[in-house]
Amino acid sequence: MLPNFEDCILDHIAIAVEDLENSVEKFSQLGLVFDSKREVVESQKVKTAFCSIDQNSHIELLEPTDETSTIQKFIDKKGGGIHHLCFRVPDVLKKQKELEKLGVNFIYPEPFDGAGNCLVNFIHPKSMNGVLVELSEKK
Ligand code: ZN
Repeated sequence: MLPNFEDCILDHIAIAVEDLENSVEKFSQLGLVFDSKREVVESQKVKTAFCSIDQNSHIELLEPTDETSTIQKFIDKKGGGIHHLCFRVPDVLKKQKELEKLGVNFIYPEPFDGAGNCLVNFIHPKSMNGVLVELSEKK
């Protein structure tokens, strides 16, 4: 039986970059087409550029806007690269409660407002073999 893809769809792959426009240029060489709009997410202290991969998924480049941004800390430690994977679920809080029963740890106690009018929370990388996973729900 096929899994129910509606329950967990890849929404985006987030990549931490030092220089947003330089990275847009590099990834565009692959044939990807970036939205000309840039979005600043104040809560995460990042500026973002988006490009669609298919009807469900996009790549999100994240440039820190501030030295205290967690993205800046990631770049300082690892030199940039894939920062997190985000999966879209119908109900983030419900999914969080289900996963917590299985022993999965979340970074924030409750979902909060993310970019693009979504409710999000992050699973601690220790619970996902070193991968930071975001869960997102369209509002
Ligand atoms: Zn994200």
